[in-house]
Amino acid sequence: MDEEMLAIMPDYVKWREMFFRMDCIFVGVAFLMECVFFVILYYGNLIEESTGVYLFLYLILPSILNVLIILTANAIRNRLRKDNTEMRQNLIPVYAMLLISMVISVTHCAFFSALSIYCIPICMTTVFGDKKLCRRVTTFSVVGTVLATVKHFLTTNNTADQVWIFPEGMIAVCILMIVGSVASKVLDMTEGQKNKLIDFARTSKEIQHQAEAANIAKSAFLANMSHEIRTPINAILGMNEMILRENRNPQIEEYAKSIYSAGNSLLYLVNDVLDISKIESGKLEVVEANYDTSSFIHDCYNMIAERAERKGLELKVECNPELPSQLRGDEVRLRQVVTNFLSNAVKYTKQGNIILSVDRQQNQGTFSFVITVKDTGIGIKEENMKDLFSQFTRFDLEQNRHIEGTGLGLAISRQLVDLMHGEIQVQSIYGEGSSFTVIVPQKIVDDSPMGDYHKRYQEIGQTNAGYQQSFKARNARILVVDDVEVNLKVIVNLLKETEVRVDTVQSGEQCLLMVAQNAYDIIFMDHMMPEMDGMETYARMKESEESLNKDTPVIMLTANAITGVREQYLQAGFADYLPKPVQGVKLEQMILKFLPQDKIQPVVTEPEKQEASTDTAVAGGKFLDAKALNNFMVLQKLFQEYPHVDLSSGFSYCGQNSDVYISILQTFCDNDKRDEINHCYEQKDIKNYQILVHGIKSSSLNIGFSDLSESARVLEEAARQENWMLIEEKHGVFIAEYQNVISGILQAMAE
Ligand code: ADP
Repeated sequence: MDEEMLAIMPDYVKWREMFFRMDCIFVGVAFLMECVFFVILYYGNLIEESTGVYLFLYLILPSILNVLIILTANAIRNRLRKDNTEMRQNLIPVYAMLLISMVISVTHCAFFSALSIYCIPICMTTVFGDKKLCRRVTTFSVVGTVLATVKHFLTTNNTADQVWIFPEGMIAVCILMIVGSVASKVLDMTEGQKNKLIDFARTSKEIQHQAEAANIAKSAFLANMSHEIRTPINAILGMNEMILRENRNPQIEEYAKSIYSAGNSLLYLVNDVLDISKIESGKLEVVEANYDTSSFIHDCYNMIAERAERKGLELKVECNPELPSQLRGDEVRLRQVVTNFLSNAVKYTKQGNIILSVDRQQNQGTFSFVITVKDTGIGIKEENMKDLFSQFTRFDLEQNRHIEGTGLGLAISRQLVDLMHGEIQVQSIYGEGSSFTVIVPQKIVDDSPMGDYHKRYQEIGQTNAGYQQSFKARNARILVVDDVEVNLKVIVNLLKETEVRVDTVQSGEQCLLMVAQNAYDIIFMDHMMPEMDGMETYARMKESEESLNKDTPVIMLTANAITGVREQYLQAGFADYLPKPVQGVKLEQMILKFLPQDKIQPVVTEPEKQEASTDTAVAGGKFLDAKALNNFMVLQKLFQEYPHVDLSSGFSYCGQNSDVYISILQTFCDNDKRDEINHCYEQKDIKNYQILVHGIKSSSLNIGFSDLSESARVLEEAARQENWMLIEEKHGVFIAEYQNVISGILQAMAE
């Protein structure tokens, strides 16, 4: 039976129970009445037969029959009870009542009571909505009445009574037929209503399904669009940054600053929309990782300190020094929530101070992080508190019209905290200030007290700051898998000074061979590779029986640094991910994070060495020795004809080492992929075309050719969407650009 039908049906099980109980009571009452009649007739000397015969015929026999009916009905009930949805069970109390009525009417021949008795089972059928049953019961009632009439006629000796027997019987039959047809009409009407209700239930369910599907489609659309919008916004902001850096005209600077502020607002808005649509479509998941408590607090503070200072607000941090020094949870999302509170506190406070307090709550063995942001701002009216976490809701618009906001921040925060199984508490007095508290359960990794958060952060910072020259790991061995040789070379060179042994391979297949032979401390794996991509290689490696690297942390190298990839890779089992082009700082941090402590040998830096090289600082602030400086200057001169190369960014990606940079430029030219790309283009081999241009996207960015990288990105995206028309439109220009870059480099280096 349809779900809709079941939903609008009466509760038949309950009705059956009730009717059955009614049948039992009826049998008991009938017995009592029979006893009363007997007493009256006995003492009035009105019994025609002998007492024994009367008692047997009118009291014992009908009572036994009635009890038998009830017992049989109960036995059938018990047998069928297993499946309570079985409609046949509706017949039991109705037929039981019908039989009881027959017994009473036939034995007592009291027509008017017989008449009213038969109405009971007929009425019962209307509750069960069974028209067939109704007709049957009415027919049986009429038959029962006729039988009773005949029996009465035959057994009555009194001729005066006999005259009235058949007319009374006819009246009884007529009345029963009227009741039967009324019941049948009622059933017709309820049937119509029921059908309408079913139609209604079905339509509303369909509408609900459609609404849910539309909502999912909306969220997916928003998520996709936000991502598509973010990319050009980032490009606009990036270009604007260049204008701000290079421009000397105050008027243009003014314009560029406006672009900066509007662009950033747009970016915040798009990020919020992206987050909310991801949460709504269920795509956002909590990703746990270990984090340092003091760094977390420091980051929260740092993100807002400048804005608070600019507004003349005092920003204080109050931390419980007993907090555990290392925790496990989704630090990124928690920071997003706290930063939102802090950002609101700055936005909605004109003067006074903001206090960020961090404490703990220990409840039945679970640790919760308690973070409160208190401000002396405009506060929130009592009546607005209930809508505080609704999407796109902002208050006091007149007063706050100059304050930027979307009304999404708190809605996102609430959903994120719910995902983390935490809670948000708000207290506010209008005109005096507000206090937002987030309480989230986190796991403790290191219970040793954090102490003074700032001091601890500085200690960690010092360990990290000196990392570039501060560690060597001669006994460490890592494997780098990437199909683009330039990328491999960059990593090898970036790690040269650490003395880590770096093996490189250019395909998934080669990687599997290597992991079967050698045990590595860390494996860096590119995502997009021809034939076997990074994901598949990883899965096969973990499955493989021969692998000596079942527990080796594998870090994904990816040029697709979009929101959400982190979750995706971590879920697939990767230990972490590193965006491409790989930066020396990040690469070494990553190695320090995953390399066993006993393999790291700290190296003390020699400050005098740095002081001695006072020549100049270029490309991100690393001091260059005379040779490197010379190289860099020569390169600068050589590439002056070539305005599209960003030498300093190429330098920074190559660890600010000019030798490395030059050798990587050479590798880039040696690995000219034009023929392969042209071949895929001619063969319309879109999959390999995508992989090849993807490689150029990261390798050209590594050496500072961002224009070529951008063109490659456009083609990669077109290939991903199988937009052959766009590829046809852009392919020729891209190849010409690629050609220009290679000949530009070769020419410059030949000078
Ligand atoms: P937004 O700040 O982008 O408008 P939020 O969701 O973060 O969106 O906040 C919703 C509204 O709650 C704000 O528009 C503001 O009216 C009110 N609000 C939030 N935080 C504070 C605060 N610290 N003090 C006063 N009002 C606040």
